Amino acid sequence: MAAIDALAEQLVDVLGPGRVVTDRQELRTYECDGLAHYKVIPGLVVLASCTEDVAATVQACGAAGVPFVARGSGTGLSGGALPHADGVLIVTSQMRRILEIAPQDERAVVEPGVINLQVTKAATPHGYYYAPDPSSQQICSIGGNVAENSGGAHCLKYGFTTNHVVGAQIVAPDGEVVRLGGRAPDAPGYDLLGAFVGSEGTLGIATEVTLRLVRLPESVRTLLAAFATTDQAGAATSAIIAAGVVPAAVEMMDALAIEAAEAAVSCGYPEGAGAVLIVELDGPAAEVEDQFDRVVALCGAAFEIRIAADDAERALFWKGRKSAFAAVGRISPDYIVQDGVIPRTALPEVLHRIGEVSRAHGVRVANVFHAGDGNLHPLVLFDDGVEGEAGRAEAVSGAILDLCIEYGGSITGEHGVGMDKAKYMPRMFTDDDLQTMQLLRCAFDPRGLANPGKVFPTPRLCGEVPGRHKGGQVAPEVEVF
Ligand SMILES: Cc1cc2nc3c(=O)[nH]c(=O)nc-3n(C[C@H](O)[C@H](O)[C@H](O)COP(=O)(O)OP(=O)(O)OC[C@H]3O[C@@H](n4cnc5c(N)ncnc54)[C@H](O)[C@@H]3O)c2cc1C
Repeated sequence: MAAIDALAEQLVDVLGPGRVVTDRQELRTYECDGLAHYKVIPGLVVLASCTEDVAATVQACGAAGVPFVARGSGTGLSGGALPHADGVLIVTSQMRRILEIAPQDERAVVEPGVINLQVTKAATPHGYYYAPDPSSQQICSIGGNVAENSGGAHCLKYGFTTNHVVGAQIVAPDGEVVRLGGRAPDAPGYDLLGAFVGSEGTLGIATEVTLRLVRLPESVRTLLAAFATTDQAGAATSAIIAAGVVPAAVEMMDALAIEAAEAAVSCGYPEGAGAVLIVELDGPAAEVEDQFDRVVALCGAAFEIRIAADDAERALFWKGRKSAFAAVGRISPDYIVQDGVIPRTALPEVLHRIGEVSRAHGVRVANVFHAGDGNLHPLVLFDDGVEGEAGRAEAVSGAILDLCIEYGGSITGEHGVGMDKAKYMPRMFTDDDLQTMQLLRCAFDPRGLANPGKVFPTPRLCGEVPGRHKGGQVAPEVEVF
């Protein structure tokens, strides 16, 4: 604690008053992110206003041997921005200037605290938008998106955040300000920017990001198809993709998720649906018209298809889907938002298996997902007030991730590993895989001060190579094919 107190005094001197939070009540504001069941009150908080603030703080942390954690808007769902009790939480939410919108080369340059949707709002008058659209896009920051490699409904066609970040200025864990990538599409040398995107705050802190902008489509058409079963909706999804159509989005909700959305936002989806699909096509008008008719035909098993007549109806279709996470609060006091990926074609089978797990444990699971790219978001419902329910929900949640691995998928599609899923990493990766990842982490951060305790099951520093590796040998045995 003495180290933190001394650091606080030093940072007040360097950053000026108002930038360093030490009051215990105020610190509580930052005790968790969107995954509220992990809580840690940070040692102190720095409200950074510029790159120099971040660099000075990281340098001071390095000199004092104190860990630091970056935080954007704190909407993360894997505990990535969970503070360190004896560390500094560096909050970038006041760094929210859009530095440049450059339609001539389809770029935007922004500070990390800029809210995702603000980029699109700034680019729209120029005929452009920012494609990755997490459902939290009204509140989450670009810095958080970069750290999590966030996705969204429209990432099926346009790719995840990593496909839309062409450059970044970062404060490396030793406090040095470094540029990765640039405005041009492909920088020579190792793809360090690619490594940084999705690194969950463990390789440094982004203080400026250069984004790719996408031209606004000439035409957008959206339909909502109601099916009796998730099997039928899953089969329609596969048929659409197999037909060579790549919609901007294909989203699915099952009956329980629909019930929750209706209770929360009265979206008016067709009654009695076992599953709804929202399919959106965008692009040149002639192409969209042609493909839309084919999609309607491929949804032939639906008992009702609604086609959005205008933007208002389109927004209503999306309202139910975009509100789905929060909506389950209407039908359950507590819930876990799970995030995993499976091959799209395995959707019907995996949904059956999730149903079996759910029934076996007596725990309800609502399913909402980016069906087009197999990214599941099972919402595991429980009541923390009922003894044993939280434990059963946790067991179901873990079993769902096991299913994702079994079917050749992943333990996270877009919410990151953070604190929450670090324990699942060994289920998906071998010890050698994890050690290889640690080598990369250590190349950026040999002292392990950047967001320690996240992503990896056992925090290890470079000198602490575990298990099979003897005699100070750091390199893992990598098979060469
Ligand atoms: C209702 C709801 C819906 C959501 N929907 C989606 C969705 O559709 N798709 C999706 O992908 N996610 C979704 N999320 C999760 C979340 O919004 C995203 O992960 C988002 O990118 C987090 O941004 P943030 O600014 O809140 O980051 P934070 O929660 O503050 O931080 C997230 C991680 O990023 C790191 N970090 C933050 N800023 C920086 C920086 N400048 N440099 C380096 N590291 C940094 C933190 O250390 C932490 O590890 C949703 C969340 C909610 C609550």
